[in-house]
Amino acid sequence: MELHGRVVPLAANDPQRHFRGRVRLGEDGAIDSVLRNRTPSSNGLRVVDVGDAFIYPGLIDLHSHIGFASLPLWDEPARDHPFLHHNTWPSAPSYRPFISWPAYALIKGAPEALLAYAQVRALAGGTTSIQGWPPANRRPANQLVRNIDDENFGNASDNSIRTSALTLSVSDLKQRARHIESGGGFIYHCAEGQGGSLAAREFAEAARAGCLRSRLIAIHCNAVGDADFRQWQEHATLAGDASPGSVVWSPFSNLWLYGETTDVAAARKHHVSVCLGTDWAPSGTKNLLGELKIANLWIREAGLDISHFDLVEMVTSSPGDVLGACWPHAAGRLEAGRLADITVVARRHPDPWKNLVMARESDVLLVIVGGHARYGTRDLMRACGESRTTSVGIGADRRHALLRKPDDAEQVWTWSSVLGELDEVRADPDAAIDRGHRVARAALEASLMNGAAPPPGLVLELDMPGAPEMFAGPPPPGVEYEVPEPSSLVHDRAWLGSLRERGFHNGVLDRVADYYV
Ligand SMILES: [Zn+2]
Repeated sequence: MELHGRVVPLAANDPQRHFRGRVRLGEDGAIDSVLRNRTPSSNGLRVVDVGDAFIYPGLIDLHSHIGFASLPLWDEPARDHPFLHHNTWPSAPSYRPFISWPAYALIKGAPEALLAYAQVRALAGGTTSIQGWPPANRRPANQLVRNIDDENFGNASDNSIRTSALTLSVSDLKQRARHIESGGGFIYHCAEGQGGSLAAREFAEAARAGCLRSRLIAIHCNAVGDADFRQWQEHATLAGDASPGSVVWSPFSNLWLYGETTDVAAARKHHVSVCLGTDWAPSGTKNLLGELKIANLWIREAGLDISHFDLVEMVTSSPGDVLGACWPHAAGRLEAGRLADITVVARRHPDPWKNLVMARESDVLLVIVGGHARYGTRDLMRACGESRTTSVGIGADRRHALLRKPDDAEQVWTWSSVLGELDEVRADPDAAIDRGHRVARAALEASLMNGAAPPPGLVLELDMPGAPEMFAGPPPPGVEYEVPEPSSLVHDRAWLGSLRERGFHNGVLDRVADYYV
């Protein structure tokens, strides 16, 4: 297949260059070639012309918790001052009834539907890879978006990234340092909280354990500052790394919970690469198009010297480069041999960098992962050879997604059935949890029998925060709580309106509405 349009390759040797041209996708899921002209190929390749639209590398969301993707924004109603660090909000009175219990019911009662919903939500923002999948006993029936925590390219031994959403001991961190030393990657929730709070100790311990290396992907780090990023650079240099690693910036979530965010200027000054992550739905944006706008807003608010181009790098080549250093395949740029993950976005601005920062869900025309179209307009999906899709309402628009029934991969799984399964959980959460527990028991028995058992049902676990019995566990018997309706897939008026007078962002996040007028 060959895509024709305005190609924005972010090529390593000349990242700002863009041109009218074509991207040829290989049969192997990698990019075959990127060419400057639009002369039709003569060798019978399928040609998909996206007209004036921009063809970007697929967007990479380096931090989320997709098991919570259907929940609305959360705040603790009675609280009047920001949280100090990541261990202070899970004990807020409304945390369990509004987050853990509904999330538990959904993840146990409708695991396949929940992951389908979360992936379509990510695709609606042009995302091709996302971090923060719930631990699972097997892969979901529908794997539309790459699972950064568990991507193995079909070879179990190639899963070279370790992830931890929880704080690790120094001895565990030393093990992760050895993993990094041997060529693997380590994604670590680190030093999430206000500057100078107790959470900064997590960074010091990661440093002590030898984790400050080029393949460390540290999430948040908003409790640390210039001296710490300098230490990271020094450690990596001493260890012989060509560059320090990456920090994942989630400005919405940081501002919402803590009223301050990562010192990205300091990180950049010390050559720590900055990547964007949406973080989870209770304190995050819906997808990277939203997070780009928050980042842009914060850059202006804080007077930082970060351009639209820099922001585009934070969701494409920067995460792509660090993942490529861990994976057997490079990502994040449109170059021969790299993963054929592509996002096509309508052209509203002549400048491709501003165009992506300003883009809305309605501008996402086509999303390709591993050379296969997963989501897009009906016409473009058909042009890619995908006519058996389900229609999804994306705000006022319609898009088509490639979903298959979990129990019959030949059949299209309609979006209304996906939502219907989530509705069933809402109607009777206790029954949904019971159902999930039965599936888990059957899956466990099947794995113990180790015979020709049918494939076990999908069993997911919540990934955060705290120990399961503390926060993420089942609701106590007889307790009253409500599972909310899945929130909208787009940054709509209701969501924008819900930012006012909530969270601890001091009104900064209110202004994101200006991007949507
Ligand atoms: Zn997180």
